[in-house]
Amino acid sequence: MKCRRCKDKGKTEKAIIFLPHHNLSLCKDCFLAWYEKRLDETIKKMDMITKKDKIMVAVSGGKDSLALWYALTRLGYEADGLYINLGIDERNYSSTSGEKAEILSKRLNRPLYVIEVKKQFGKGIPDLNKLTKQPACSICGLIKRYFINKVALENGYTCVATGHNLDDEVATLFSITLSWDIDSLIRQLPILPEKEGFVRKVKPLIGFTEKENLLYCLLQRIDYIREECPLSTGVKTIFYKNLLNRVEQKSPGTKLRFYFNFQKKLHPLLPGQIIPPLHSCSICGQPTTSYDICAFCRFKQRVKHSLQT
Ligand code: SF4
Ligand code: ZN
Repeated sequence: MKCRRCKDKGKTEKAIIFLPHHNLSLCKDCFLAWYEKRLDETIKKMDMITKKDKIMVAVSGGKDSLALWYALTRLGYEADGLYINLGIDERNYSSTSGEKAEILSKRLNRPLYVIEVKKQFGKGIPDLNKLTKQPACSICGLIKRYFINKVALENGYTCVATGHNLDDEVATLFSITLSWDIDSLIRQLPILPEKEGFVRKVKPLIGFTEKENLLYCLLQRIDYIREECPLSTGVKTIFYKNLLNRVEQKSPGTKLRFYFNFQKKLHPLLPGQIIPPLHSCSICGQPTTSYDICAFCRFKQRVKHSLQT
């Protein structure tokens, strides 16, 4: 198979990938150019960020967020990293993913902020799960949301970019649709605008599949953690992703249509988001919808209490 872009220019370069959902075969150079151009176009078309923004990329050490950090930097955006070490020791998951984030930080010559869950709580996510009986992923989400916002605000970042890809967003949208959870549907946007005490959050990779991000990493020689989080086994999203991959195989382009037609056709018909009034947490000062203390500080108290009993 020949590269379509090269063929159009009268050259004959062998394609390294065929993207059925775009009906496009590309060689190495054309894939890299296509990926970065498409990323920049998505950012500009959706008004996500500009070159004036000071961007914090939330990196996990995985292919998506590292590809995003690297590509944003290549496109001339000012982007630094934040890595949250979840304290998952199984198969050295956290230490290895942290190393990958550090390696890219050095290569890009951009700072990497590191938050260690063990330093905050004296325990990593698996032990916090055992102690509090709260699901590991819900603890992880709470901690990540809290520190991403806090570190970005305290250090003057105007925007946080996360590595959510098309497969992630489609699986989430599918799951929400199955239960017609309207409140969650309203929040399913690639941009969460800045509001008092909350930094703007954007998902620039929504137009890219996991495979495309993986190939970008391989071609740019970005070292990423190959293993999935050991706590992800049995997570429903993985089941939905596999299901949707089968649909995509039969009918290429389904994921792109499902996600972008939702944004274009259905989301505008939904009622606007009702934002409850915000208060400052009486312990940490971060914004919260509760009148007294925020969910993070409540969780911290719960951990402390569980350790004393
Ligand atoms: Fe966090 Fe792992 Fe759960 Fe993902 S799978 S939310 S990284 S604990
Ligand atoms: Zn608080």
